[in-house]
Amino acid sequence: MPKIERRERIKINLSPRNSFDLSMTTNRQKHGLAVVEPDNYGHDTTPAAQDLLRTVMIAHLVAPHFPRIIETNFGVEFSEFLTRFYDHYGYQPPKIKRSIEQVGISYAKPTEEKRNTVTTASAHSGGLDSVFRLIRFLERGEDIVAVHLRNLNAKGNFAEAAASQEQCRAWGIPYELVRLKNSSGNTGFEVMKTRDLLLALIVAISTHPRNVSKIVIEGGMSADPTGTQFSEYTGAWEMFNQLLADAGLSSQVEGIDPGDIETVGEILRLEKKLGLSILPLVQNCFSAPFQVGGNRKKWDRVTPILSKNSPEQWCGSCLKCRRMSLGRIYYRDDRLRKMPSREITAFVADTYDWMRKYPRPEMISQSFLDHLHALQDRV
Ligand SMILES: [Zn+2]
Repeated sequence: MPKIERRERIKINLSPRNSFDLSMTTNRQKHGLAVVEPDNYGHDTTPAAQDLLRTVMIAHLVAPHFPRIIETNFGVEFSEFLTRFYDHYGYQPPKIKRSIEQVGISYAKPTEEKRNTVTTASAHSGGLDSVFRLIRFLERGEDIVAVHLRNLNAKGNFAEAAASQEQCRAWGIPYELVRLKNSSGNTGFEVMKTRDLLLALIVAISTHPRNVSKIVIEGGMSADPTGTQFSEYTGAWEMFNQLLADAGLSSQVEGIDPGDIETVGEILRLEKKLGLSILPLVQNCFSAPFQVGGNRKKWDRVTPILSKNSPEQWCGSCLKCRRMSLGRIYYRDDRLRKMPSREITAFVADTYDWMRKYPRPEMISQSFLDHLHALQDRV
């Protein structure tokens, strides 16, 4: 992991207007993290649960810096979370100091609103793995609610939010949207220090009024702390689940391991079994919206049938889109039955060529390679 340039002291201020709006200044740059929607966020959860969220938000803000002193204008509870977080990266616990001027925390007001009880909630990005998680519950006839956290990632937020909502509408799954204002500066691969813990806690707080007992998020966590980011470490999740219980939240978090190309095959099977259109609604293209059109022009030329039968929000060229195309071709998506073998050959050759230049080869899974080699042998 890259070496972190630690800071001596960082001041984090809570807004007097929104008790989930934190800001900090580093190098004269302002950073912030806030839950801006829905209003009265956290209603019907305990004050402890809301305090825990502020602490996890602090962790997300300081994660790029690990300051020795964190100064706040409000009382910080659950500092043991920060202690464990720092310890994971080999640091002494931060000293938490109160600044002279303090703001009062206003806790979300309880409502009389009655919501249907739901057993499970899924963190729903709108990408392939989160779609697969939801559909598996549909297949088994279990009730589930999807929660989308908007602006958790640096890119693709509008498309993801729109797709996630459209999916749930199409499949009849209750959907909740939580919108962040996120200028945390915590991005890239390092975001996994805290990202999924923040995500899971938002899902737990949002769905607590529905008395949800299980939160499902993407798995693939590791029991070995060495080289593992905190939110990918099973030990962090054991501690975190204990904190959820201590804070009076109804649910516990479980990671569901994602497959790779096999997942595309599974979704094709489920589309048939459930009579639903699923794949065309998936949104996980890595390209910026302005790049998609240009990339698609190439595929219109090289693999016209594949391109014609791929949804317009896919660029076709990034790792995620190639994963889709590879899975659909390999598992014989009916929508591609007219794709001639010369197009398959062209896709395979282009993907080998692309892999040679790909800057992050460790992102390409063994499953991707196995399926690509097998497809090459098939044509
Ligand atoms: Zn793409």
